[in-house]
This record gives sequence, structure tokens and C-alpha cells, in this order.
Amino acid sequence: MTKAEQNEFTAFMNGLKKRNPCETEFHQAVSEVAASIMPWYLQQEAYRRAQILERITEPDRIITFRVTWETDSAEIRANRAWRVQFNHALGPYKGGLRFHPSVTQSILKFLGFEQIFKNSLTGLPMGGAKGGSNFNPKGKSDREVMRFCQSMMIELSRHIGEDIDVPAGDIGVGAREISYLFGQYMRLENRWSGVITGKGLAFGGSAVRTEATGWGCVYFCEHMLQHHGETLAGKRIAVSGSGNVALYAVQKLIEKGARVVSLSDSLGCIHIPEGLREDQWQEIRTLKETDRGSLSSYHSPGTEYHVGLRPWGIPCDIAMPCATENELDLNDAKALTANGILAVCEGANMPTTPEAAELFRAQGVLHAPGKASNAGGVSVSGLEQSQNAMHLSWEREEVDRRLQQIMREIHSRCVESGTMSGSRVDYINGSNLSGFKKVALAMSAFGAV
Ligand code: NAP
Repeated sequence: MTKAEQNEFTAFMNGLKKRNPCETEFHQAVSEVAASIMPWYLQQEAYRRAQILERITEPDRIITFRVTWETDSAEIRANRAWRVQFNHALGPYKGGLRFHPSVTQSILKFLGFEQIFKNSLTGLPMGGAKGGSNFNPKGKSDREVMRFCQSMMIELSRHIGEDIDVPAGDIGVGAREISYLFGQYMRLENRWSGVITGKGLAFGGSAVRTEATGWGCVYFCEHMLQHHGETLAGKRIAVSGSGNVALYAVQKLIEKGARVVSLSDSLGCIHIPEGLREDQWQEIRTLKETDRGSLSSYHSPGTEYHVGLRPWGIPCDIAMPCATENELDLNDAKALTANGILAVCEGANMPTTPEAAELFRAQGVLHAPGKASNAGGVSVSGLEQSQNAMHLSWEREEVDRRLQQIMREIHSRCVESGTMSGSRVDYINGSNLSGFKKVALAMSAFGAV
């Protein structure tokens, strides 16, 4: 940025921070997008007059409500829940629900804001939203989770609908929670509608939705490497997380001949120097998906468990953070670059701190931001909406073919908007610019709404 652009950026961010005090994650997400688009945006007189940047950073609405539920021992509990309906210029609001004790309004605003540009990049007609609760499903019985979901849906159902707002899963919201939420919505509304995505295959879900975010991330990674004269086969990949995104990213990486050298969860990480085998992957999937256990209880020859550690000190060629926001900081980035890392491909949303991202940029590390590389999940959610609207279901091969095509197109959009001199691509700038331009065009066409 020039000095003048920097001044405009600082003035804008100061205003945003004043209007949204203490929402540090939200500031971080906006700052990244605003920094990418500012030089271009300042040339767009009509958009500036229409205050597009100020309007796009203000959610359409935020619904906050209390969720009261009963434990198995008949104790009353109350949690806080939100739905942030950020922007529906491109289509009905769309974005996941997160259940985790760390959930705050700031986190859901950052996620909803990111979702606007991610959904724009997919090329599908979807607006941006996010929701969730500080409810912790860990350690709760199925019946407790059911009662919480049913109570939450009593309020949420007033604000969603297949052409209004279509939630999905995220951290802590998997097949079990989606089924309880969907069942309660049907009971309240007395009709079946595609109001939630990520549903079971037997009741309107899409093939490949479970795998979509992880597989999509690997497809994107492959395009990024190919575009820069590299391949995935034989590369050592450090993956973090062992939830939905991580598990299916690892499955596809193994299939593609890459060597997965780590997985992690909130308590620690496992190091697999020779690379995870498919039979070990199956065992870990059962441990995490069915038994809801911790990686610390996984023992297999050739794996080492490190309590309390993240995987970023492990020598690797590619880092694939798939757990949560800000899980890869400057020290981690220093360790990764010291080990000669080639690329970072984000499965999680905003897993890299700004300081770490700056170091990657300075060192020429290819860096795919989540809003581009993890867009496969919402893309197949969009395909689930289409199938529900048409009252039919596509075969796995058909959905996978469409997913691959969408990830290829997202990569092309990043290349188009993010190519620097020497043909290297700045994927952060490329995805932000491409995603933003389309929403700005729509908002400006609508006039002052
Ligand atoms: P998930 O199935 O609940 O798994 C989350 C994983 O991250 C678990 O292994 C969890 O460990 C770990 N984790 C959570 N919080 C952590 C923390 N504070 N520190 C260290 N590890 C932590 O969730 P997911 O759906 O895979 O989502 C992972 C990320 O991908 C999130 O950033 C989410 O927003 C993003 N994302 C998800 C989708 C999707 O379709 N699911 C789509 C796009 C983006 P434990 O097992 O110990 O809890």
C-alpha cells in the first residue's frame, strides 16, 4: 500500500474498532480483507460514495437468544446462542453453526464475515451468515445434546427458511446435532424443507457432504502446487485437527500419495514420521467420529503422541491447519519456514495469525486462505440445497465431479485477481478481491438498501 492508501486503511479500521469494541477476531478478519482490497477500492468512486466497505462490514442483523435446557439429572442450564445474518446480496444466508465454550459474538461475526466472500468465490447463489452457542457438547449425553438442540431450534426456527437462511454444521455440530435440529424444525413447521444442510443421506442429505471440506481443501492444494510447478505426491503434510475437515483431508491426501505426518486435537498431537497408513486412518476416524475419544488414547506402532503440542515443529513440506482460528502463530511460522516449508493450505477458518501470514508472505510461502481452500464444504451444502429444491439426489460421482469443478474455478478466480509479477499468486489478496468485487457489484445495483 502507498502512504495515502495506508492512511485510508488506518482511518477505516479505527472507525470499525470504535463501532465494534473488544471484538478482536472480527477486527482481524476485516483487517485482512480491507488491506487486500484497499488499493483497488480507493479507485472505485461509485462504491466509495455508496459506502460499500462500511456497509459490507455491518451485519444485516444479529439475533441473540437464551437457550434453556435440562441435564439428565434434571438441573436447569442456560446458554447463549446467536445467528449473525451478515449479508444476503448474493443469495439466502448460508453458514454453519458452532457449539463450543469459546464461542462469542466476535467469533461468529468474523466467521460470518469470511463466509460472505467464501460463498461469493464458489459462484453459487449464497449469502453469508454464521451462528452457534457457547454450549459444550463434549461430555454431554445424546439426550442432553438433543434437548439443547430442540430448545435452540424453537427460537432459531423463527429466523431461518430454505429461501431465507440455511444453517449447517461447524465445530461441535456434526451429523448428530444436525439431525436433532432438523427434526425439531420439521416438528415446529409441520413440513419438510431443505432448511439445514449436512443432513443424513436417508433424509435429504447430499453424497460427499461429509467429505467435502477436507477433499475440497486437497483439490485446491493440488491446483496451487500445479500452478507453481509442484505436485502433491510424496510431499510431507502436517495436518492439525482430527475433526470433520482434518479427517477427510487426510483421507484424500493418502489417496493422492502424500505423506501425512501429523494429526492433532485440543489436547495434543500425534507424529507419524513415516506417514499415516489407511488402516490407521480408519482407526482414528472411529475413535473421533464414533467413540468421541481423544487422540491421547490412540496407540499404534510408528506413531508418537505429544501432549499439549501443536504439529508445526514437525518437519514438513506443506502445513494444513484444520482445527480452529489462530492455531498457527508467529513462532509456529518461524519453525515451519526454518524447516523449508513450501505451502500452507488452510482447512480451518483464519487459522493463521496476521504475524504468521506476514512471515509466510515475506518468505514466498504459498498461502491459501480458508475462504478459498475450505470452500468445498459450503459448496456441497449449496449443491444439497439444489438437490432438495429439485426433489432428487445425485450420485457420489456426480457431486464429487461438481466439487472438483468448483474448487478448480475458485483457484482460477484467485489466480485472476492475485497474480503478482513473476506469475506467483498471492492467494490472500486474490481471494479477497475476487470475493469482494461480486458482492460490491450486487450491493451497488440494489441502491441504498
Ligand atoms: P470438528 O469436527 O468439531 O473438529 C474440530 C477439531 O479441531 C477437533 O479435532 C478439535 O479437537 C480441534 N479443536 C477445536 N478447537 C480447538 C482448539 N481451541 N485448539 C486445538 N484444537 C482444537 O470441526 P470441523 O468441522 O472439522 O471444523 C474445523 C475448522 O474448519 C473450523 O475452523 C471450522 O470453522 C472450519 N470449517 C469447517 C467446515 C465444515 O464443513 N465442517 C467448513 C469450512 C470450514 P477435539 O477433538 O479435542 O475437540
